[in-house]
Amino acid sequence: MPVSETARHRVDSQGLSGNPSSQHVVGVHARRAINRVRKQVSDHIGSDDPRQVYFTSGATEAANLVIQGYLRRLRDEGSNRNEIIVSAVEHPAVYQTAYAMERWGYRIREIPVNREGYVELGELESRVGPSTAMVCVMAVNNETGVIQPINTLARAVKGVDPGILFVCDAVQTFAKLRWDIDLHVVDSVFMSGHKIGAEKGTGCLYLNRRFSIAPMFYGGVQEGSFRPGTENVRGIALFGEALQENVEVFQDRFMHVQTLRRSLIAGLSERGILFQQLGAMDRSSPYILMLAFPGVPARIMLEDLDALGFCVSRGSACSSHKRTPSRVLSAMAVPESLSNCAIRISFSGDNQSSEVEALLEALAELGESS
Ligand code: PLP
Repeated sequence: MPVSETARHRVDSQGLSGNPSSQHVVGVHARRAINRVRKQVSDHIGSDDPRQVYFTSGATEAANLVIQGYLRRLRDEGSNRNEIIVSAVEHPAVYQTAYAMERWGYRIREIPVNREGYVELGELESRVGPSTAMVCVMAVNNETGVIQPINTLARAVKGVDPGILFVCDAVQTFAKLRWDIDLHVVDSVFMSGHKIGAEKGTGCLYLNRRFSIAPMFYGGVQEGSFRPGTENVRGIALFGEALQENVEVFQDRFMHVQTLRRSLIAGLSERGILFQQLGAMDRSSPYILMLAFPGVPARIMLEDLDALGFCVSRGSACSSHKRTPSRVLSAMAVPESLSNCAIRISFSGDNQSSEVEALLEALAELGESS
């Protein structure tokens, strides 16, 4: 849900036109605005030092900074750690970045998920060893909404070796679900502005000071020199506003989307529409629902629903143009015949129950005509 007009107005009336690196009053004003949001994010995620939060252009950049930057650091130090463990259901921002590291000689060890989409502790533990450089497991899957037991997984990794970097993609949990990621065991998290109603092209990375990364970019000292270049001051200020607004309405919005999601599922059953929910029912985000409608190809459903004004997608929005079955669903052993009939429905605080009713009607008609 986009940040409110009032918040936009508040940001625009702050006079944030200065360069935050400048020493004059206008520059200092802009720098202070950035640092206020840094502190706000730091407090929200339970970090003890705002200087561990770095603003980026989004989650993909943050994932690259931490994954590539840390491995580059290890390589420079001549470390023997040459394995990266990633869950099979990571967003491409992490998954593809990890695989790109093969060209530097890193070996990727994937942790499978079970049919419900969970990473199982035993599967992770059996892969952790003296060669492990980092482990990447996301908090909430963007296609199925499945919530991973991040703290349990991270605690197990730290129990074996505290020197392994544990990275968590927190995009789908930040400011949406109650924040419960324990930064005593999770070393790095990152989030995206547009997922919480801030501007596209904003986001941030948290990295515990016990770990350091080699810079990927050069040319300035901004954001701890990890992300040089003049900061997106307005975007960062709006990120702070969006976080604040999400926090204020957190409980009500959560309950609202949960009711919408439940009524969609109940409505499908009541209308006798054949469907299957993909991913765990119990521990999943109410903001995301992956449904398969056996016999109705997703491609057709997407076109028809789009024509009726419903913006649903297939898998992650970033790869929805692909014709291949979702990697996430394949990892959950969903047969291709079913995953080809699966669509992802995202809910927002803006949605109304009348829209759920209208979607149910549309799905019923599509089912009849297919
Ligand atoms: N990780 C997850 C789980 C996401 O859902 C997304 C975006 O949809 C990203 C990473 C990438 O975020 P960004 O678009 O800010 O790079």
